[in-house]
Formats: sequence, C-alpha cells, structure tokens
Amino acid sequence: MLELRPTCENCNKLLPPDSLEARICSYECTFCASCADGILGNVCPNCGGGFVPRPIRPSKNWKGDNFLGKDPASTTVRHRPVDSEAHARFVARIRSIPPEQR
Ligand SMILES: [Zn+2]
Ligand SMILES: [Zn+2]
Repeated sequence: MLELRPTCENCNKLLPPDSLEARICSYECTFCASCADGILGNVCPNCGGGFVPRPIRPSKNWKGDNFLGKDPASTTVRHRPVDSEAHARFVARIRSIPPEQR
C-alpha cells in the first residue's frame, strides 16, 4: 500500500493525500510537481526512475473500508534536498545511455 508521504522530499511542500501536485517514483519517493518537472527533470534523485502523479486515496468509505479513515497517510517527513549540480550530472549520465540499454 502507498505510504502517501506528507511532503515533497526536496522542498518540503505539504502534499496532503488529496493533492493533485504529488508525484511519486516506483519506490514512492515523493516530490511536488514543480520539483519533479523542474529541478529533477522527471528523474528521481534516489533511483533514477521517472515520476507519475500519485493516486488519491478516497476519504470516504465507498467500499470495504478501503479509505483514508482506516489507512491514513504517513506523517513521516523525509526532507532530503537535492544537490542540483550532482543531480544534473546524474541525469546527464542516465541520458547518455541509449534508451534500449538503460
Ligand atoms: Zn517540491
Ligand atoms: Zn525513486
């Protein structure tokens, strides 16, 4: 189950469970849309994968107790600001590899 982390790992902006700005990688590293699209260039600084919009967990119990009331969002903040120069080198290294060899 997704943790639904509470903030952007880079800028610490609040990303509540209903945020349309939350972006996650396959490991659920969580960033806001402006960091994901901007400084990160759609490359996760932790794993090198891309981002997708984080799905919104229902706040109402529409079916089978599958909702925020039973499975609340994480409150554990992971604030690890990205070193923009190191990230730019990381992105350049990944992009220098042909897509079929990544
Ligand atoms: Zn951010
Ligand atoms: Zn990642």
